[in-house]
Amino acid sequence: KDFRNNIKPNWCPGCGDFSVQAAIQRAAANIGLEPENLAVVSGIGCSGRISGYINAYGFHGIHGRSLPIAQGLKMANRELTVIASGGDGDGFAIGMGHTVHAIRRNMNITYIVMDNQIYGLTKGQTSPRSAEGFKTKSTPQGSIESTLAPLEIALSAGATFVAQSFSSNLKQLTSLIEQGLQHEGFSMINVFSPCVTFNKINTYDWFKENIIDLEEIEGYDPSNRIQAMTKLMETGGMLTGLIYQDKQKKSYENLVAGFKEEGLAKQNISLSEEEFHKLLAEFK
Ligand code: SF4
Repeated sequence: KDFRNNIKPNWCPGCGDFSVQAAIQRAAANIGLEPENLAVVSGIGCSGRISGYINAYGFHGIHGRSLPIAQGLKMANRELTVIASGGDGDGFAIGMGHTVHAIRRNMNITYIVMDNQIYGLTKGQTSPRSAEGFKTKSTPQGSIESTLAPLEIALSAGATFVAQSFSSNLKQLTSLIEQGLQHEGFSMINVFSPCVTFNKINTYDWFKENIIDLEEIEGYDPSNRIQAMTKLMETGGMLTGLIYQDKQKKSYENLVAGFKEEGLAKQNISLSEEEFHKLLAEFK
């Protein structure tokens, strides 16, 4: 199936988000999804546009709120494969409360963060992922705040799938998205996705020099949460690959009592017409 549509992205030439778009399209096709069974929800930011650039259901939500919308979709229709997406500012600043609780809820959703370590859409301010000392219009003397460590937070919150990739490594990114989509539970994939226009520090070359592929670490076991946390801390969060996966824990929708297989959208409403209109009137 073709997950491309005819809308031309208006990202800057060279933006890392192009690769994320391509990886989602390839991963969805590779695992045999149909466009009518995939929904892509996004927040606000340059990366938020991605929901309009994939041939699937798209929902461009509000700032930091892609995850509540995505969880609502999944609750209503379990047959949908749901991807939530956004940038590091969207998910790790205004949206961080939702991110942490979605992780610990473990609903069957894949969350893809395009982490460019800056706010791009608003033309270059320090984000929660910017390094200490990072100079922008909002921090002209350098950021004095600590850099947020999202994957360590995810592990602490009980994540069952944690991965990280890089826009330049389309093969790895596609494979991780495929694995995330097939994981039972919440899968979080952070993607180093350079902003070529406003972030002149964390460039493609900078990432190439600083990331550490897990394939280079002999004996690494992605089922070992303590090892995952230790390696993340040792490498300053620069690992790429499948960092952690718990294949045993069941997803939220498979644990919640009375949550029917067919999802709310497919269940019969056993109300008479009169009762139905009375119910509707209560919402007016
Ligand atoms: Fe991408 Fe940065 Fe351009 Fe936004 S401003 S589209 S993040 S390169």
